[in-house]
Amino acid sequence: MIEDIQILRKEIKDPKDIVILSHRNPDGDALGSSLAMKEFLSGKGHFVKCIFPSEYPENFEWMPGIKESLIYDLAAEEVIKTIERAQLILCLDFNALDRIDKMGEAVEQNKNAFKVLVDHHLDPEPFADFYYCDNKASSTCELIYRMLNDLGEQHAVRGNIADFLYTGIITDTGSFHHATNSALFRIVADLKDKGLDDSYLQNLIFNSQSEKQMRLLGHCLANRMNINEELGIGLIYLSKDDYKEFDIQRGDTEGIINYLLKVKIVKLAAFITQQPRIIKLSLRSKGEISVQALARDHFSGGGHFNASGGYAHSSLAHVIKKFWEVAPVYIK
Ligand code: 5GP
Ligand code: MN
Repeated sequence: MIEDIQILRKEIKDPKDIVILSHRNPDGDALGSSLAMKEFLSGKGHFVKCIFPSEYPENFEWMPGIKESLIYDLAAEEVIKTIERAQLILCLDFNALDRIDKMGEAVEQNKNAFKVLVDHHLDPEPFADFYYCDNKASSTCELIYRMLNDLGEQHAVRGNIADFLYTGIITDTGSFHHATNSALFRIVADLKDKGLDDSYLQNLIFNSQSEKQMRLLGHCLANRMNINEELGIGLIYLSKDDYKEFDIQRGDTEGIINYLLKVKIVKLAAFITQQPRIIKLSLRSKGEISVQALARDHFSGGGHFNASGGYAHSSLAHVIKKFWEVAPVYIK
């Protein structure tokens, strides 16, 4: 669903109060797309604020301008007021207002703001005035690149904006491992032509783990991993006590699930963690197995065909038991 770009061009012609929103536990794509649009729109004379529901991982702290973002968990009142004042609301990298908790209600109630959704998840919900959505896109950052081109603003894609877009592309594709398309490689070639230092950025993003994170990974692989060879399903879980023992902070568990997919016979992987109020699931698959359906049918979630997530309000043991009961149905 990609609408007539002239509609958006008209909306951003004159300076406005703009809010850019993305999802909880913002990843490289959420952060990259948000900061790229902030830099672009600020350059056009708009007043722009980026808002995230929860804090961002440490390995993205290098991103210029990220520290000026508002975090709902740390400043709820200010965030709601900012959303209420906004004349234009840009929703990036998520497809439904309930993915941004209480902020979603504030977005819904602001009837004066023009609302834009740019996203690559399946099934975007009808809450926006302008959609730039394509679930075949690798990332929201790829869509932002295409949208800036459509707006006739391709010259803006350089410097920080090129770095931000590359960050979302490289993280959402698992370093060009999945969800790629030929246009994407042309986009990255163009970024490189414009001076992108990709290996420098890869080191900032991926080779920046702490010793604690490496030891946590060791613990997960040695003590918290179960693999059912017959079904080709793997699971890693972390309890509340693990969180305490390893002093696990936001972002520390990022990427652990990918180790399950490194096992040749594993076709479906789950990473299940006990959070203060919910049990959170991350789901990944190889090939024709839809973890989006699994997340949607049993864990109030969704996402992409091969990468989804969800949650449940019950005990860790119960969720793990339920996962082993329902997951085999999705194996082809
Ligand atoms: P992750 O496992 O990295 O947290 O999320 C993988 C994908 O699933 C992301 O695209 C994310 O947007 C989506 N996702 C994660 N958790 C949820 C959830 O609770 N609900 C929905 N609808 N999508 C989720
Ligand atoms: Mn994304």
